[in-house]
Amino acid sequence: MDSFSQYCRQEAETAALAQHLARCLSQLLLEPTAHINIALEGDLGAGKTTFARYLIQGMGYAGKVKSPTYTLCEPYTLETNNGSSLTAHHFDLYRMRSPLEWQEAGFTEYFDMPGFCLIEWPEKAEATLPPFDLRIRLEPGVTDGQPEEQARQIEINADTAQGRALLSLLTF
Ligand code: ADP
Ligand code: MG
Repeated sequence: MDSFSQYCRQEAETAALAQHLARCLSQLLLEPTAHINIALEGDLGAGKTTFARYLIQGMGYAGKVKSPTYTLCEPYTLETNNGSSLTAHHFDLYRMRSPLEWQEAGFTEYFDMPGFCLIEWPEKAEATLPPFDLRIRLEPGVTDGQPEEQARQIEINADTAQGRALLSLLTF
């Protein structure tokens, strides 16, 4: 399966989807060298950071998950079920001015580490980024032609074999 979509009528449903993805991701990342790249797409306020927060906390992180708006990247160390640890990097590239900034910040090496990367505004660094395994797109909710403040349409696309493996765990 290459794509999956779900209408989340309220934030609690977005949370449940992100937490479910967290469990599937944890399972895939038991493979010690595995690395997964996930793009988070959608306009300002779509819910990208909210989704990332539920996902990272769903992986067992107990602290605060802040938006990396000004830092561009926030790292998290997570414990796995088999006692080892892995690293998550959460990016928000909205304020990045040129792909050069990406290289200078040394972000490229984060894509080899066991764990995963979540990237908001990937279009700001497109040429520099490695391929995404999964792309998650959040759109404002609309019911019967009326905008729904608390709802979001969430579409998940898999672009690699690893992404498809993750999506099949998610939709099993
Ligand atoms: P982005 O990172 O895409 O700019 P944020 O996650 O920072 O967006 O903001 C999304 C806002 O929308 C948050 O205040 C969140 O509480 C709110 N929200 C309301 N309903 C939902 C929903 N169904 N899913 C996700 N966020 C929602
Ligand atoms: Mg954000």
